[in-house]
Amino acid sequence: MNFDYIKPNTLTDALECLEKENAAILAGGTDVVVNLKSGKINPSFLIDIKGLKELKGVEKVDGGIFIGALTTIDEIKNSPLLSRYRALVEGAGVLGCHEIRCRATIGGNICNGSPSADTVPGLLVHNAKVEIISKHGSRIIPLENFLIDAGKVDLRKGELLKGVFLPDLEENSFSRYYRVSRVKAWICHQ
Ligand SMILES: Cc1cc2nc3c(=O)[nH]c(=O)nc-3n(C[C@H](O)[C@H](O)[C@H](O)COP(=O)(O)OP(=O)(O)OC[C@H]3O[C@@H](n4cnc5c(N)ncnc54)[C@H](O)[C@@H]3O)c2cc1C
Repeated sequence: MNFDYIKPNTLTDALECLEKENAAILAGGTDVVVNLKSGKINPSFLIDIKGLKELKGVEKVDGGIFIGALTTIDEIKNSPLLSRYRALVEGAGVLGCHEIRCRATIGGNICNGSPSADTVPGLLVHNAKVEIISKHGSRIIPLENFLIDAGKVDLRKGELLKGVFLPDLEENSFSRYYRVSRVKAWICHQ
């Protein structure tokens, strides 16, 4: 394992770094570090985006809610703005354990491309769209089009996920999240 670690302070710098050959993004690292250790990924540059404030937080915007890619799973679980998007909040509530939820981000959960990602069903059921940016511009597409296959998402060289847009809820709409899992409990703080 031999790579350069870069931690840009601005979004502009981060997008410049992502133009490098064989660059990988590090957010909370709960998937990336596991994949580095196992040798599943072998980047030349690891770009740590955790310092980018433009990618953090949940806010009310025109027509819905925008969730920055670096928003942690714990913040999703506890956000008053998201409480009526119940399938999403409940998915966030069962992801890993407290320590993982405080570290892991929604952007990482989506971009890892796992078919068992616990925030993704709640986002899909509420018709989420993703905003993807690069040095060359941005594009907004439905989340269902972003997810291509197991472990594969529509993220091209130089791009990063800026965040997720959830449209306003229809009146009287309601959702729940039920997870089938072999893991019965985590031995850590819930
Ligand atoms: C002990 C343990 C338990 C877990 N339990 C669960 C569980 O119950 N349910 C579940 O769904 N997941 C679980 N996970 C997986 C993991 O915690 C989640 O997928 C988490 O949301 C990943 O977020 P992260 O910020 O740590 O991502 P990272 O590990 O930093 O990144 C994951 C992937 O996304 C890419 N990426 C991250 N952010 C961006 C961005 N903004 N733009 C473009 N690409 C990006 C990275 O390059 C990488 O490919 C578990 C992991 C561990 C270690």
